[in-house]
Amino acid sequence: MATTTTVVDVLASHGSGRRQLLIAGAWADATSGETLPSIDPSTGQEIAQIAAGDAEDVDRAVAAARAALEGPWRTFTPVQRQNLLLRLADLVETHAAELGLLDVVDMGIPVSIGASRMRTPVEVLRYYAGWTTKIHGETLPNSATSPMLSYTVKEPIGVVGAIIPWNSPASSSVWKLAPALATGCTVVLKPSEEGSLSPLYLGELIQQLDVPPGVVNIVTGRGATAGAALAAHPGVDKIAFTGSTETGRRIVEAATGNLKRVSLELGGKSPNIVFADADLEAAVPVVAMGVFGNTGQMCVAGTRVFVERPVYEEFVERQADYARNLRVGRSVDPQTQLGPLVSSRQLDRVLGYVGAGAREGARLVTGGERLTDGELQHGYFVPPTVFADVEDHMAVAREEIFGPVASILPFDGVDEVVRRANDTDYGLGAGVWTRDVGKAHRLAGELRSGNVWVNTFLNLDPAVPFGGYKQSGWGRELGRDSLEEYVNVKAVWINAT
Ligand code: NAD
Repeated sequence: MATTTTVVDVLASHGSGRRQLLIAGAWADATSGETLPSIDPSTGQEIAQIAAGDAEDVDRAVAAARAALEGPWRTFTPVQRQNLLLRLADLVETHAAELGLLDVVDMGIPVSIGASRMRTPVEVLRYYAGWTTKIHGETLPNSATSPMLSYTVKEPIGVVGAIIPWNSPASSSVWKLAPALATGCTVVLKPSEEGSLSPLYLGELIQQLDVPPGVVNIVTGRGATAGAALAAHPGVDKIAFTGSTETGRRIVEAATGNLKRVSLELGGKSPNIVFADADLEAAVPVVAMGVFGNTGQMCVAGTRVFVERPVYEEFVERQADYARNLRVGRSVDPQTQLGPLVSSRQLDRVLGYVGAGAREGARLVTGGERLTDGELQHGYFVPPTVFADVEDHMAVAREEIFGPVASILPFDGVDEVVRRANDTDYGLGAGVWTRDVGKAHRLAGELRSGNVWVNTFLNLDPAVPFGGYKQSGWGRELGRDSLEEYVNVKAVWINAT
């Protein structure tokens, strides 16, 4: 009950930002005057309205970002940018509960973890604050030509269009804002229409800082209008996109007009490989939460669970038991471990895949039907679902479901599992469970994936780069590597003779 009251308070106290766009340091209505509903996926009820920005609003925001880039922001020293990021980290830390609650009601993250999820953005902001004073080029001895002074300078790439999904809105915003501001860029952020409330609240926090108007702008609205306009805009120097592979392709096409730089964090169908010599006691819960965490709405979800034949049946049973004991409920209920799916569209998509799995002959061990009892009746709830005896060609083994659906596949030996694990268009994450250190290193080398976790899964750290191979993306977020995505390298030659 206390939690519900707080949710109401949080929603009531940030009204100014929620219906409007942040452009040039001020909240403004969308040019069209149109708004979109924000739905609580636990109840199916509207909790807020967000502005439906369109191409005209994107124009205004990009102009503001360009003016800021060429204005006082340009003269900010690295230490000033560092202080700004540190102050933003403090504000996010202070307001973690409110930010977390907005994600709880906007996209269904359980309240038991809502505020603690704000640890990562705080740490990411502090990590990049440290980098602001360490971004520099090199002095390079000429290798084959007559000696001159040659050096490189790293300059901000310019105006960044940051387009993010709904599955972790506050965090996704910060993963892009932090390196962009650390390098001296300006930003137009386009949150997902399904998860705009916490990014808008971040905008309110940014306004409390001494940041020049236009350095951070936020345009909410539909992907096909606001998102597409940003991706195609000739005044944008770079798009930093996180979302589906399908939309990633559209972004690349839209970006060809001015050949802007593009970084992409896209979808996945990650393998999680359990060898017979693994510590099953340790593996079962981590592998399960690697699929079911955030109700499966994770790009790196380890949804293809390969299990070596000698422990296959035992693992299937233990995984199913673990799944059955997870508590699914409304996101504001403190007992809830798994909340709803984000939308009715996502619900239909997940149930569609469950139907396809059954039709194609996979064995449904647990879950698989929408939950509609009592207070869940109007929400978008699917319990943790386990398919066993899945075959590589089935849709549940090949396509990203983005729901709490585990596909378990038996295998025999290292060569076979490496080949099958790599047989995918994606390459975002991979897990390996074994006590054999030689096997662990071999798989870490042979899996074609941007992240490999051994005897663990889904760990993230601000210092460690994150990103995908193949159709899971271009470029890296986090770590030093992310900074390179936000700078241009200029070579300077001085003939001093
Ligand atoms: P989505 O691709 O539908 O939308 C992502 C963002 O793009 C939203 O802001 C949306 O409004 C916008 N958009 C949609 N169409 C657009 C267009 N034509 N032009 C420009 N922008 C457009 O993805 P989603 O449903 O919001 O999120 C789920 C997807 O995101 C999954 O595929 C998931 O794997 C992926 N994801 C990847 C990562 C990662 O780091 N690799 C992290 C989280 C989510």
